[in-house]
Amino acid sequence: MSATPARTLDRLGRPLGDLRISVTDRCNFRCVYCMPREVFGPDFEFLSRSELLSFEEIRRLARIFIGLGVDKIRLTGGEPLLRKEIGQLVEMLSSLDGLDDLTMTTNASLLARKAQALRAAGLQRITVSLDALDDNVFRRMSDVKVPVATVLAGIRGAAEAGLHPVKVNMVVKRGANEDQILPLAEYFRGSGHILRFIEFMDVGNSNGWRMADVVTAREIRDRIDERWSLEPLDPNYTGEVASRYRYRDGAGEIGIIASVTRPFCSTCTRARLTANGEFFTCLFSGRGHDLRGALREGASDAELADRIRSVWQGRVDRYSELRSEATVPLPKVEMSRIGG
Ligand code: SAM
Ligand code: SF4
Ligand code: SF4
Repeated sequence: MSATPARTLDRLGRPLGDLRISVTDRCNFRCVYCMPREVFGPDFEFLSRSELLSFEEIRRLARIFIGLGVDKIRLTGGEPLLRKEIGQLVEMLSSLDGLDDLTMTTNASLLARKAQALRAAGLQRITVSLDALDDNVFRRMSDVKVPVATVLAGIRGAAEAGLHPVKVNMVVKRGANEDQILPLAEYFRGSGHILRFIEFMDVGNSNGWRMADVVTAREIRDRIDERWSLEPLDPNYTGEVASRYRYRDGAGEIGIIASVTRPFCSTCTRARLTANGEFFTCLFSGRGHDLRGALREGASDAELADRIRSVWQGRVDRYSELRSEATVPLPKVEMSRIGG
């Protein structure tokens, strides 16, 4: 029997609870709000193979984080399904004692053929990003030629593999894909899958974010409510980031993540590990804390745990509550590096 892990609290009393692990900074998409091609072009220098944490290193750090209170892990990227043998990592993590929830966020371009193996390896849930139902809009958002049908096939494959319901994330950007809110809502109504709308965020310094491009949670809700009447639902658990609504006609539920207009920093329990082993305590941080160096120099589990604990205990992040015109240009880690 494993011992109950300690709760590790930050300076604002928030426990360390979730860990998001980015397994690669590469992606086969160039979403305009995340990896605009002008910045992430042919000359962009991605991490080299030797800079990436190995699966053994990731597992070891995950085990140490679990010992400090983490019980949920999400694999992300870049595009996590681009990392070779990712199923093997899922298997190595799913057997860790004390882990309640193992999930992944993916663009689903490679999911249809990998879903069964991921499920068999122990993946419990999956979130798929999909910003449009119309191929032309989707192409403008993702800036690649992958058709929407490929992503929809990935969602179907995941559901058939037992990863039902799938959460589907749509980032809404003004003038870019806001006309896809209702088509996507209609497509997923009655499917059992949970569509979640995300306000466009000023992550990193490459996506040209402006407040004027944010379609607010309120506006998203109103647009859907006008077409299909909605009623609010209670959160599933304290600190859930999506506000939940159900269709009054019984066609299921949706979520809206108001990261910009209704920040949820006061309940933020998320730690983030980049593919090269940097530990971040906020999505909008300018700098991470290197864990790979200590790992490769032979630090013991206890030494690594001390380092992680002391970083978390010093944490005061609440960027989204403090966001202003002055904070937007501050140096921040790119989304493709930290993984969302
Ligand atoms: N490539 C995978 C994918 O897209 O699902 C995983 C990594 S991606 C960085 C994780 C999530 O962050 C995706 O759902 C994506 O839509 C979201 N995201 C990226 N940039 C964003 C931004 N500027 N504002 C809001 N969400 C963003
Ligand atoms: Fe790639 Fe995901 Fe970023 Fe799109 S959001 S560019 S799929 S990492
Ligand atoms: Fe958490 Fe930082 Fe986002 Fe606030 S801004 S919710 S502290 S990641």
